[in-house]
Amino acid sequence: MVKIEDKERLRRTLYAIDRRGYKAYKQIEGAYDFGAYMLFIDHAQGDPFAPPSAVRVRVDQRVAQIPADLLTTRTRRIAVADYLARQVALQLRRLIKGHRGSGKSGMIVIDAGHQEVLERTAMVVNRDFVEARLSVGLPAYGRTVQAQEAVEIFFDEIPRVVERSLMARQLDLSALRAHVGVVEDQAVLREKLDEMGLVAFVGDGAILPRVSGASDAPMPADRAVKFQSPPSLRVQVEVPNAGTITGMGIPRGVTLIVGGGYHGKSTLLRAIERGVYDHIPGDGRERVVTVSGAVKIRAEDGRSVEKVDITPFITNLPFGKSTVDFSTDDASGSTSQATNIIEALEVGATLLLLDEDTSATNFMVRDARMQALVAKDKEPITPFIDRVRELYTEQGISTILVMGGSGDYFDVADHVIMMDHFHPVDVTAEAKEIIRTWPSQRRREAPAPFAPPPARIPQPESFPRPKPGKPLKVQAKGLRHISFAKHTIDLSLVEQLVDESQTRAIAAALVTGLGRYIDGRHSLEEIVEAFERDIFEHGLDRLASGRHPRGDLAWPRRFEVAATINRLRGIRMRQRR
Ligand code: ADP
Ligand code: MG
Repeated sequence: MVKIEDKERLRRTLYAIDRRGYKAYKQIEGAYDFGAYMLFIDHAQGDPFAPPSAVRVRVDQRVAQIPADLLTTRTRRIAVADYLARQVALQLRRLIKGHRGSGKSGMIVIDAGHQEVLERTAMVVNRDFVEARLSVGLPAYGRTVQAQEAVEIFFDEIPRVVERSLMARQLDLSALRAHVGVVEDQAVLREKLDEMGLVAFVGDGAILPRVSGASDAPMPADRAVKFQSPPSLRVQVEVPNAGTITGMGIPRGVTLIVGGGYHGKSTLLRAIERGVYDHIPGDGRERVVTVSGAVKIRAEDGRSVEKVDITPFITNLPFGKSTVDFSTDDASGSTSQATNIIEALEVGATLLLLDEDTSATNFMVRDARMQALVAKDKEPITPFIDRVRELYTEQGISTILVMGGSGDYFDVADHVIMMDHFHPVDVTAEAKEIIRTWPSQRRREAPAPFAPPPARIPQPESFPRPKPGKPLKVQAKGLRHISFAKHTIDLSLVEQLVDESQTRAIAAALVTGLGRYIDGRHSLEEIVEAFERDIFEHGLDRLASGRHPRGDLAWPRRFEVAATINRLRGIRMRQRR
């Protein structure tokens, strides 16, 4: 237990170290009683340009008084925490002076997240307390302590932010309740999809397009065409807070999204991809919900692949290269896309999402004329069109596929949705009629039935580990890269990774949790399941390896965790047959 000091002790220490070398700030590490809350200075940075200092503010629920009924479920607690973190961020923008000298002097930030509501470590809410975790740039003149500015931060700015954002009496409780309600409805709806026989739901009135390719904020309502479900696919659902809502239900099976270029096909699919996460009120996608087993699949040439059985899609490569345990440092478009499917299935995907824009053409289609010219024994690829039905009927794996370019897919689809000026139209009947009028000349070519992929066991000696006296270097570089030991793991095309705090959590897991299960016995699926269970039972704080809690981690899905291990160059796998 840390000793809890009176806050005046902090003030005295700060004045005592005024103008001294910046490292003197180490003396303020500790716990302080501020009356309404406890202040923990877990880590004081050693330099004004170093990563900022780690500070926690903990308010007892007897003071915070967050209504107890908002804390009764995990989903509600996550939603409350999300709301409070955003309130802290808002008040920090309003109330703090910010820049106060060299380096990061004076900055105070909280990792409040983007459009999604994820479990994150920036805010901990439970029945006992509310705890915000802040990054604080301790103020400096050049490289010396600036005590007066530091006193303002700890005795003026932070107390005001805490007062405005973490105390129920200062909060807009109806907005808090609305926030929790919107999140809870999404979680409930996602759970209900299965019993309704659906894989995704797109609510009427949803705003799917984003403001730009560079921003995930919604397109302004005056420019966006709101989603309106086609009557034949319209479903009604009861959710706990909004009551009865309507929207398009996409049933299990194979669904095609067709339509002219620029009519909104990819935008619809992208919203469905993101529907595995809950969104904040006002995002436009609060009623776009997808089963949690949904995985976006795309071509990713150049990626490394280790012992993946891609025979359902690729056999007879030139020079007899094996596809039963296919490995490469530099996959092609089609082999990478096949790999991405097999790896997703290996860890439990139930819905595949594909867009022609990001697929390898030869992986998707092979028409009658090409079949006539290039005999099957000269074509290693069994195109997706010849597997997609079987994946559903034999394995229960559904697919939603954007395909404006090939009507051959009508033969294998249960539902065909046409995007027409951003409006969905159910054209299943027309597509079936076209099949009768113009039967496809192509033959199905699948050499053998689809077999579920074998489990793969990561080999412990190939996984980087710390050596005695030599900690292992791991660092998330933004959203899309992790440097790990001497490797850089490239996640740029892992599209359902959405928050850099998820990337940090995966990076942290590489050295804290995952290694433990990489023991030569557990399969990748068992490893990511153990990881999931661990976080569920013990929380994300489990992932922090240092001496103090971190405030910059968010929950990553098992699929993105597996994707990271799969992209670690140098990992060795063994198939369990
Ligand atoms: P497609 O995949 O059919 O070629 P996209 O989904 O890429 O089309 O959409 C094309 C453009 O239209 C994008 O700039 C997108 O932001 C915009 N857009 C998509 N859906 C809507 C909508 N419902 N309302 C307004 N603009 C939209
Ligand atoms: Mg498109």
